[in-house]
Amino acid sequence: MAAPLPIDARFESRVRRDEPMSRHTSWHVGGPADVFFTPKDRTDLLEFLERLPAGTPLFWLGLGSNLLVRDGGIRGVVIDTTGLAQLDAIDETTLYAEAGVPCARIARRCIGLELGPAEFFAGIPGTLGGALTMNAGAFGGETWPRVRAVDVCDARGRERRREAREYSYSYRRLVAPVPGEFFLGAVLAFEKRPGLTDDALRDMIARRKESQPIGEWSCGSTFTNPKGDHAARLIEAAGLKGTRIGDIMVSPKHANFLVNVEAAKAADVERLVQLIQQEVQKRFGVALTPEFRTVGEAN
Ligand SMILES: Cc1cc2nc3c(=O)[nH]c(=O)nc-3n(C[C@H](O)[C@H](O)[C@H](O)COP(=O)(O)OP(=O)(O)OC[C@H]3O[C@@H](n4cnc5c(N)ncnc54)[C@H](O)[C@@H]3O)c2cc1C
Repeated sequence: MAAPLPIDARFESRVRRDEPMSRHTSWHVGGPADVFFTPKDRTDLLEFLERLPAGTPLFWLGLGSNLLVRDGGIRGVVIDTTGLAQLDAIDETTLYAEAGVPCARIARRCIGLELGPAEFFAGIPGTLGGALTMNAGAFGGETWPRVRAVDVCDARGRERRREAREYSYSYRRLVAPVPGEFFLGAVLAFEKRPGLTDDALRDMIARRKESQPIGEWSCGSTFTNPKGDHAARLIEAAGLKGTRIGDIMVSPKHANFLVNVEAAKAADVERLVQLIQQEVQKRFGVALTPEFRTVGEAN
């Protein structure tokens, strides 16, 4: 067994050891993280990183809404970004949000300020940091067209600002100019939308609740939609709705959602994902790509 990672005493009150990641993912699945650090703010985080032994593996966590943590858990340090929670208006149409701000909070603030398009943020149950990483989108909008600049840091806690044009993005995909940088916050630009209310938003969310198993334990859409088709349609046409391995099941309500019925293991999630990919490939010749990220060690 490896020796516990040395952490500077000043940070100990914000550190949990062997923290079950099932507590921090929307799938409620995942083994323990060696060290789970919740900084109180950006300065605390950068000082923590600066003092970590060089080469310590790091994993940055938002709200875990697009994440499969394997049953053996995560070696090294998980950075819980929810302490990065500042959200401020810079001017009439521009906001600065730190990476741990929930997307729903950004949507609400924009509606209050009569700014759009920002409704799509209300459909993403994660943080801004997760939305930047995934180029998350909903209701026809997506994250990166709203980004003007981002503040990032590296594993040693060195901070810098980058312009949005240094990144390239496409559907649920982002290519960063250099690997090994993490998001601290972003400048987001919107347009004035006088008279904007949350009525349209309420409608969209209500429609979503009718077709998706919202409130059940999932990671949202399991697979990205292949060009010109829908993953859900293919999975349903393959006869897989309701298929279950252990406690993970293809939702009978929406075939692209895999729901944890009670105490699913990550290994069962991976088996079900593979089964779906094989069946859809065999029947329709389409390779489905997972939208969620997988991290950690198998048991
Ligand atoms: C019910 C449900 C509905 C959903 N609907 C949608 C939808 O409509 N559209 C959509 O796009 N997604 C949707 N999702 C998926 C998910 O909410 C998004 O992908 C979201 O952007 C993930 O954010 P998060 O904070 O939870 O990230 P996490 O799941 O915690 O992390 C995702 C990835 O981002 C990385 N990351 C997180 N923060 C940072 C950071 N600060 N710096 C660097 N890397 C970071 C993580 O390391 C990981 O690789 C849904 C999920 C659920 C459960």
